[in-house]
Amino acid sequence: WTTDTTPVDKLDELSKTSYPLCMRILHEALKTHHHLKNSGRMQYGLFIKGIGVTMTDALSFWKTEFTKKIDLAKFDKEYAYSIRHTYGKEGKQTNYTPLGCPKIISSSVSAGEYHGCAFKHMDQNSLRQKLFNYGVPAATINEIADLAREQNYLGACTAYFKFIHKRMPDKLISHPNVYFAESRVILA
Ligand code: SF4
Repeated sequence: WTTDTTPVDKLDELSKTSYPLCMRILHEALKTHHHLKNSGRMQYGLFIKGIGVTMTDALSFWKTEFTKKIDLAKFDKEYAYSIRHTYGKEGKQTNYTPLGCPKIISSSVSAGEYHGCAFKHMDQNSLRQKLFNYGVPAATINEIADLAREQNYLGACTAYFKFIHKRMPDKLISHPNVYFAESRVILA
């Protein structure tokens, strides 16, 4: 995936144009609730690392959102470490890579969590409503929701890509960061 740097002030726009649905939902949930639980922070944090958000920018991005609800001292104490950890700057200094679709699809998601694969983890009504809210026309909603119901999650993701970009991706989607890279090839 891209090695270019992505500025955090572009993430709102990119979430609509170039994110796969799983990441668009996480971004939106973070902006709405000013919080994400641990698995959501991990899934989204590694994704934005993969699209070229620097650690300094990532810290400021999460801090800006979280401190709308909690104070700065709590953020620094409870969350800053794990963000630096994501970038391999703490603990064993492992250079964590962004999660691929199989891993995301097989994650378990509880109530109040927004990580996982939208096509696997959202129920049909919520998925249809979400796509409708994003301006997807009824025929495409049916196509995507049917693929999701048939457990063809990557097919559903590809159909969403095709709707957003008005063409198919050149590479098979099997990783959210591949989705993003394919999108940028078309839109950048
Ligand atoms: Fe995300 Fe992959 Fe699911 Fe698409 S198929 S929504 S990229 S986990």
